Amino acid sequence: MDYQTQIERAAALIKQSSGFYSLTGAGLSTESGIPDFRTPGTGIWENIDPIKTASVEVLENDPRLFYEAAFNRFAHITLAEPHAGHYALAKMEEMGYLKGLVTQNIDGLHVKAGSRKIWEVHGHLRSGYCQGCKKRYSFEELVQQVELKRIPPLCRNCFDVLRPDVVLFGDPMPALFYEAEDTLRRNCDLMLSAGSSLVVYPVAYLPALAKKLIIINLMPTEYDSDAEIVIREKCSKTLHDLAEELSRDS
Ligand SMILES: [Zn+2]
Repeated sequence: MDYQTQIERAAALIKQSSGFYSLTGAGLSTESGIPDFRTPGTGIWENIDPIKTASVEVLENDPRLFYEAAFNRFAHITLAEPHAGHYALAKMEEMGYLKGLVTQNIDGLHVKAGSRKIWEVHGHLRSGYCQGCKKRYSFEELVQQVELKRIPPLCRNCFDVLRPDVVLFGDPMPALFYEAEDTLRRNCDLMLSAGSSLVVYPVAYLPALAKKLIIINLMPTEYDSDAEIVIREKCSKTLHDLAEELSRDS
């Protein structure tokens, strides 16, 4: 099947679907210039073990190391901008096709691009909170304290350590993950997985909840043999072309 035929058939499946959802992963972010820590040789964690820095254990036992190593990488991610693929998914939702979006990405680019029904199951970089009294802070507040060398940043109420709203190594999955899982189990008849290698559990269980599957990923995934359509192309181009195809005669 050539690329154009794949796009047309994917669009046809989406139009027939009554419960179309998407799952997105690091492949979308890398096209916005954010390195994928799981790709050998290019990863942001190449020189540093993520378990040793971006983890609950480090945050609790050595908050200075957490803020000097992991946090600076997070802060850099907030500078990224959405690409055509993020906008295409927002457009599919606006057109009434896409019912919701589950993302493993913490960069917030789907929100920036205008997606509304979204489960950011690994958290995001828009806010943080105090580990002691749970008072909420903007992510910017954490960044400002770090820039002023107040490491780790502390709560103004109780002087406990602040942390970003991302799921760190060692954190449990947030309640919204189970909400997403439940919604997919009840409603999803078609899932579009874009830019996810589908190896990080429990998110990698989610495609099994869909009746039909479309996969866009540069590398093979374990679900390829179960999918109706597998497109080995960049997410930005493919999602853009798919949204164009859907808007052509809708
Ligand atoms: Zn506090």
